[in-house]
Amino acid sequence: MIEDKNQQRTSLSALGEFGLIGHLTRDIETSLPSTLKGIGDDGAVLDFKDKKVVVSTDLLIEGVHFDLAYMPLKHLGYKAVVVNVSDICAMNATPTQITVSIAVSNRFPVEALDELYDGIKHAAKVYGVDIVGGDTTSSQKGMILSITAIGEAEAEDITYRAGATSTDLLIVTGDVGAAYMGLQVLEREKQVFQVNPNNQPDLDPYNYLIERQLKPEARKDIKAILKALELQPTSMIDVSDGLSSEIIHLCKNSGLGASLYEEKIPVDPQLINVCEEFNIDITTVALNGGEDYELLFTIKQADYDKIKGNPNFTVIGHMTEESAGINLVTRANTQIPLKARGWNALSEGE
Ligand code: ADP
Ligand code: MG
Repeated sequence: MIEDKNQQRTSLSALGEFGLIGHLTRDIETSLPSTLKGIGDDGAVLDFKDKKVVVSTDLLIEGVHFDLAYMPLKHLGYKAVVVNVSDICAMNATPTQITVSIAVSNRFPVEALDELYDGIKHAAKVYGVDIVGGDTTSSQKGMILSITAIGEAEAEDITYRAGATSTDLLIVTGDVGAAYMGLQVLEREKQVFQVNPNNQPDLDPYNYLIERQLKPEARKDIKAILKALELQPTSMIDVSDGLSSEIIHLCKNSGLGASLYEEKIPVDPQLINVCEEFNIDITTVALNGGEDYELLFTIKQADYDKIKGNPNFTVIGHMTEESAGINLVTRANTQIPLKARGWNALSEGE
């Protein structure tokens, strides 16, 4: 699908490490008052005055976390920023800076890294973060990309995984499951493409799902929405591994159980259609799919009126005492213990 045989190829060795750093970072400027010094010295210098600083990092490895056969490099760069920004948002903090570290084999021409950086720079612009540094090195095989995100927050706004109480409501933003099925569609098309490169797939019915997979967005908007509602979440996490696994994290960290109502889980109509086509259970996908980058959080029951009818939020259940367990209440009104079957890079073969 992403075949362009006529690309210009400038070998990395033509630039060398410093030439490459200079080339990739030539047009990176900083804009935030908290960035005193960005790229170009031994370290970046940041100033957050009396705010707290939140730091999060992620490592992405070719063949493990992404497949360049259907993930264009520009999308990879964008997504790598988004997943880190999402972690900062999940602390109810505001993302401010990122650093970008890459290791690449000489299989990649300079033009490929330009594409990667186009995605990274675009995401930095969209999310209003400064790129303030990084590291560049070579790898024996494939590409490794690590992004560190930094954010700021008032101490009282920061929201942890721990902090929920047994009567709190459980809420998720947006919808879940779409990114996973987007990946299934792309995997299927990749196989079709390998058999018949001339096949032109009609991906229109899957556009939302594919976009959720290739170009996910972090919910940077939620912090301001909660602020405007004068709503302080009691615990929060982002949905990266799957709704089920994230609910279990909130429960374990808060020392609680939870009841999740199957009929309340928000899913997009395209997800319903594609699950029928693939003959996969929608709830299984919504619970275990992952990579949604929505926010999952709890609020006090007394705050329910503040979010009632708000299209950004769906109440999907409530917390319980730990002894009640962590359960899915099905449409048939039976209780099934939730399992964390989300994406786990270390137990792929389970
Ligand atoms: P050092 O030898 O101190 O590690 P480098 O020569 O690696 O410095 O980097 C020079 C400057 O360029 C530093 O500010 C560093 O943060 C930045 N930098 C290096 N690689 C990247 C990259 N891939 N993306 C963004 N900034 C980078
Ligand atoms: Mg370095």
